[in-house]
Order: sequence, then C-alpha cells, then structure tokens
Amino acid sequence: MAYVISDSCVSCGSCAGECPVGAISEGDGKFEIDPNSCIDCGTCAGVCPTGAIASE
Ligand code: SF4
Repeated sequence: MAYVISDSCVSCGSCAGECPVGAISEGDGKFEIDPNSCIDCGTCAGVCPTGAIASE
C-alpha cells in the first residue's frame, strides 16, 4: 500500500516538504509519490489543500 496523488493536484508542492522519507517529487503536471519509498504515514494527505492525496 501507498498513498497516491490524484488529478486534483495543482502542483502547489505543499506535500513534498512534509514527507519524512522524501517520497514525493514533481512529476508531469502533478506531484507523484514513489510507492516503493512511501511508508503510509498519511502526513501528506493532511496538508494537501485540494484533498488530492489518498491511500490506494
Ligand atoms: Fe510520504 Fe507519508 Fe505521504 Fe507516504 S504517506 S508519501 S511516507 S508523507
């Protein structure tokens, strides 16, 4: 399991700095979470202003 970022992402970047394992990076048109690095902590979901991040 890992958290995923939907198309609701507006590329604000709020989540990337909060991830304790650095799993979030800017992708093509939205930010992306590396499923192999994500430890399912949920921190990113709590800071996303558009609610774009959810557990898969
Ligand atoms: Fe990073 Fe936690 Fe979000 Fe996974 S759930 S991407 S470890 S902040």
